[in-house]
Amino acid sequence: MTDKTFQIAVLPGDGIGIEVMEAAIEVLDRLVARMGGFQLAYEHHRAGAELYRETGTDLPDSVWKACEEADAILFGAMGLPDVRYPDGTEIAPQLRLRLDLDLYAGVRPVRALPGTRLPLADPRAAEIDFVLVREQSEGWFYGRYHPDVGPRSTRDEAYDIGRITRAGSVRLFDFAFRLAEKRRARSPKKGRVTCVDKANVHRSLALFHQVFWDCAKGHAHIASDHCYVDAMSLNLIRKPWEYDVLATENQFGDILSDLGAALIGGMGMAPSGDVGDAHGLFQPAHGTAPDIAGKGLANPTAMILSAAMMLDWLGERHGLPQCVEAAALLEHAVDRAFASGRIVTPEFGGKDGTAAVTRAVLETLGTR
Ligand code: ATP
Repeated sequence: MTDKTFQIAVLPGDGIGIEVMEAAIEVLDRLVARMGGFQLAYEHHRAGAELYRETGTDLPDSVWKACEEADAILFGAMGLPDVRYPDGTEIAPQLRLRLDLDLYAGVRPVRALPGTRLPLADPRAAEIDFVLVREQSEGWFYGRYHPDVGPRSTRDEAYDIGRITRAGSVRLFDFAFRLAEKRRARSPKKGRVTCVDKANVHRSLALFHQVFWDCAKGHAHIASDHCYVDAMSLNLIRKPWEYDVLATENQFGDILSDLGAALIGGMGMAPSGDVGDAHGLFQPAHGTAPDIAGKGLANPTAMILSAAMMLDWLGERHGLPQCVEAAALLEHAVDRAFASGRIVTPEFGGKDGTAAVTRAVLETLGTR
């Protein structure tokens, strides 16, 4: 039987997006050669702020189409502080892809890697392993997606429109409960969904909150609870190891995922996936980091772990256990590279940059 070949649209983007993407592709090539059972066919595309500066287009139609047709999208990072749309906002084609491809669930795993020196002194910090599931089609980003909706802003008065719908919340929570089920199957310590909102203040979030409890009834075998976002900001510093799946509104998810990244060492350690019912886009949680771009200092771990998330998603979606296994193998290789103490990246006080991390992961991939 011939191997299944997945078409992957590769969009490295700008700044360190290009550097970490190269690292991830090198690692994926080694992994696929080792595993067998499936192949990855990459199609590289230019998109982002540099392209916008040169041509006035950040996401050409042909690239949009390639993303729509691909089995998955691997995305580096896009945007540069000095390149802006006419309305002053930063170039962010990822927002368009999120909306057009209906990538409603932003999946942001926050897992402490073995051997890393974490900012929290409590030894339980080594057990940090939760996933933020961020709603991405509405919430407080709704006004950015639909700038013509709502009252008009003036020079002296500005409005942002937030929107929560029952349907948008139901699909988010169902996604979160399914994820908790999957995590419980992999570890008996897991299997809980916590709704994070501000239902005590905003009507929209009171609806979000109500829908959560309605959905929880349909998933009674999974534990469920609730926390206001302000209290969650406190708890994620005091006891992040207690959480499993956090389901939250768009903007709160955006903010808490940076907090989550800080808990495990920084943006270079935080992978993510933007997932819908028909498409998946996988990218590190970080931006283009112009301050370190071109210096070989970018930590590719987040990008490599995002590639592992892509394999897991593809494998589950297409019923291909080798692909799910490859994802686990890659995660394990990254863990072992850090656990061995051979690599210490700048976030952890060391000097190992992109090439050193890539080399260490390639080495551990080659050994059991
Ligand atoms: P965006 O708004 O696009 O998310 P940002 O400007 O908020 O971007 P980043 O580009 O993610 O943020 O950078 C934030 C900080 O984290 C910078 O100091 C950057 O150097 C650092 N950083 C981000 N990604 C990495 C990485 N992969 N390796 C090392 N440091 C990183």
